[in-house]
Amino acid sequence: MDNVDAAELSKFGELAHKWWDKNSEFKPLHEINPLRLNYINKAVNLNGKTVLDVGCGGGILSESMAEKGATVMGIDLGEKALKVAQLHSLETGITVNYRLVAVEKLAEEMPTSFDVVTCMEMLEHVPDPASVILACSRLVKPNGTVFFSTINRNPKAYLLAVIGAEYVLNMLPRGTHDYAKFIKPSELSAWARQSDLTLVGTKGLGYNPITKIYSVSDDISVNYMMQTMKLVSL
Ligand code: SAH
Repeated sequence: MDNVDAAELSKFGELAHKWWDKNSEFKPLHEINPLRLNYINKAVNLNGKTVLDVGCGGGILSESMAEKGATVMGIDLGEKALKVAQLHSLETGITVNYRLVAVEKLAEEMPTSFDVVTCMEMLEHVPDPASVILACSRLVKPNGTVFFSTINRNPKAYLLAVIGAEYVLNMLPRGTHDYAKFIKPSELSAWARQSDLTLVGTKGLGYNPITKIYSVSDDISVNYMMQTMKLVSL
C-alpha cells in the first residue's frame, strides 16, 4: 500500500551502480548539486542542523549536506540505491544514516524531528505527491524548512525536459520522465499550503545546451526548486 510506482523504482534500480559516475545518466544530478546545495545552505545554514533527505537515491545531495556539517538521514525505497549510498559513505567517511523506509511511515515513527527536510527530483516519480508533501510537513520541526524540486508542466518543459534531454541531447535514458507527472509550481504550493507549509520562495534551475552549464535563476518554467516553512507561532 506504499505510495510507490514499482516501474519507477526498477528504472532507478537498473542504473544504481552508476550513481557516483559523473559521466553517467546521473551527470545532471552531479552538475546541479552544488547549485541546489548552495541554495539550501544559504537559506538555512546546514552546519549543526538535522536534515532528512527524502528520495535520496545514491546520496549525492545527502553527502554534500553532511559535508556542510549537518546530521543527515537519507531515505529511499530503492534498495540498490541505498546500498550504493552506504558504500560510498564508507569510502568517503562522510556519515549519513541511510534507511529503506517510506516517508509516510517515517512520519508516523518520528514526527517533528528534523530542522530541514529536502525532497529533490522525487515528487515527479511518485503516484501521490501530495501524500509525500504532507509527510515531509509532519517530519519537520516547528518553524523548520522543507525544500522541494521538480519539473514544471507546460509545453516548454515537455520540449526541454523530455524531448531535449532524452531524445536530442541523450542526457537521460528515454522514459526517465513522464510528462503527465510533472508538477506546476501552483500545484506544488497548493499541496504545500494544504500541509501547513508556507511558501518562502522559488528558484529556477536552467540548462544552457550550448555552454552545457546549469544556473540558478528566477525562470521557473522548467526545472525549479521551492522553499517552504512550517510556520508555527510560539
Ligand atoms: N533526490 C536525489 C535522487 C533523485 S532520483 C537527488 O536529487 O540527487 C529519484 C529518486 O527517488 C530515486 O532514488 C528513486 O529510487 C526515488 N523514489 C522513487 N519513488 C520513490 C518513493 N515512492 N519513495 C521513495 N523514493 C522514491
